[in-house]
Amino acid sequence: MTFILILTAVGMVGLGSALFMMRTQPRGLYVLFFAEMWERFSYYGMRALLVFYLTKHFLFDQTVAYGLYGAYTTLVFITPVIGGLLADRYLGQRKAVVIGAVLLVLGHSLMAFEGEPVSPGASPEPMVLNIFYLALALIIVGVGFLKGNISAIVGQLYAKSDVRRDSGFTFFYVGINAGSFFGALYAGYLGETFGWKYGFGLAGIGMLLGLIVFVVGKPWLNGAGEPKDLGALHRRPMFGLSVEQLIYLGIIATTGLVWWVVRDQETVGWLLYLTMAATYLYILYTSIISLEPHARDRIIAALLLITVQILFWALFEQAGSSLNVYTDEQVDRTLFGQAVPASVFQSLNAMYIIFLGPVFAGLWLFLAKRGLEPSTPQKFGLGVAQLGLGFLLLVWGATSTGGALTPVVFVFLIYLLHTTGELCLSPVGLSAMTKLSTARMVGLIMGAWFLASGAGNFAAGVIAQATAVTGANGESQILAVYTNVGWLALIVGVGLIVISPLISRLMHLDTLKDER
Ligand code: GLN
Repeated sequence: MTFILILTAVGMVGLGSALFMMRTQPRGLYVLFFAEMWERFSYYGMRALLVFYLTKHFLFDQTVAYGLYGAYTTLVFITPVIGGLLADRYLGQRKAVVIGAVLLVLGHSLMAFEGEPVSPGASPEPMVLNIFYLALALIIVGVGFLKGNISAIVGQLYAKSDVRRDSGFTFFYVGINAGSFFGALYAGYLGETFGWKYGFGLAGIGMLLGLIVFVVGKPWLNGAGEPKDLGALHRRPMFGLSVEQLIYLGIIATTGLVWWVVRDQETVGWLLYLTMAATYLYILYTSIISLEPHARDRIIAALLLITVQILFWALFEQAGSSLNVYTDEQVDRTLFGQAVPASVFQSLNAMYIIFLGPVFAGLWLFLAKRGLEPSTPQKFGLGVAQLGLGFLLLVWGATSTGGALTPVVFVFLIYLLHTTGELCLSPVGLSAMTKLSTARMVGLIMGAWFLASGAGNFAAGVIAQATAVTGANGESQILAVYTNVGWLALIVGVGLIVISPLISRLMHLDTLKDER
């Protein structure tokens, strides 16, 4: 408990200073910051408990639990494409976020329905299990409506030429990470100490707060996120039902489908490939047939940036799997005379972001005012290169000890470099998506952004498996894998910086105009 209080105090200091430094940003950013903070609080709070809940409450086999976890975390990245498309065409982003938030409150609350703990040798009650899958499905569909669309609204707070955009998204990213930090801390603690339902219940309450903030804060959004075509929702294309009613029916049908699909990791993998191919082709097709050449080039630039993310997250997400295991088994985790559990290092990334986010936000503005701000592709290159450097530094630290355990400072350093890399790429990418996309496609482009990060997460699983393979004499291959991926990322990062003028040219920032 003392540990939790100390971490809370430190996190609060970071959060407070971020909120203070944000005051030169549009007021609507505060609304979106808090709404997304609570949404991520619930998402990461529930996620922190999920595998333990599966293995300790339902007594699932570890492989089955990991499979379900993988399917769940992949599906939450697939649905934003659909949520984005529907928001662009009919709902507008604001309404889509409200729908998503309501589904999330329902889903998280349903998670709190846990039934009796399963006794060894018995199987979970089918009814309880089905309610659990339904809760997952509601969360997956809810994230689909909320996640990409709320980010798209952030973009609408800024004129296309506003130099505060990247900084604004960096602050927004601090909100995301404050949510993930406190969510995992509190829901994790309550769930593991007092009972699962309290942890999941807290996640539900967090999401409800997010919904309230978003609804009450509407006036501060100044009309951002409203539908482009006001009549579209009320047209009655089929069976006398309006588009809005059809969307609600679609939500019920999709939730039913996901409720069933989430149990099968292999199908989810295929669904990911199919959605990736369909999304890329659809975006290319629509931009070629419907956009003027500069707008079309910008979408192509956006697709290139989106693709870089696959590599980025594939390596970054080793944090929760192989890097976590490495920290557990190969690192001297003694700090102030006490062995710190490996899982504690999982909160480092969010903590670094809470403190470094405002520094980066300030840095981009400082450089922009002096005409020195790196371009978006350059920032991406810097991000990927730092990711590679992080791995290479860890390998260097591990091999320089002559067989002893790796000093813990290298764990702090790899997460530091991975976080600074993330800050150069992830919030900057969200910002770029809203800038490069036309207003009518922004939800879809944002959906594609998250889809690619889902593909990265999926690939991360494959890389983690490669680190677990042992050599001919039973020796661990993890450092060899880290060396390879480290160099790969460094080379790709430098390569991106070298070709950045070409991508920048595709972005046509000189002819970028605001559209209403
Ligand atoms: N951690 C961030 C979030 O939850 C980034 C997710 C991603 O794009 N992979 O929003």
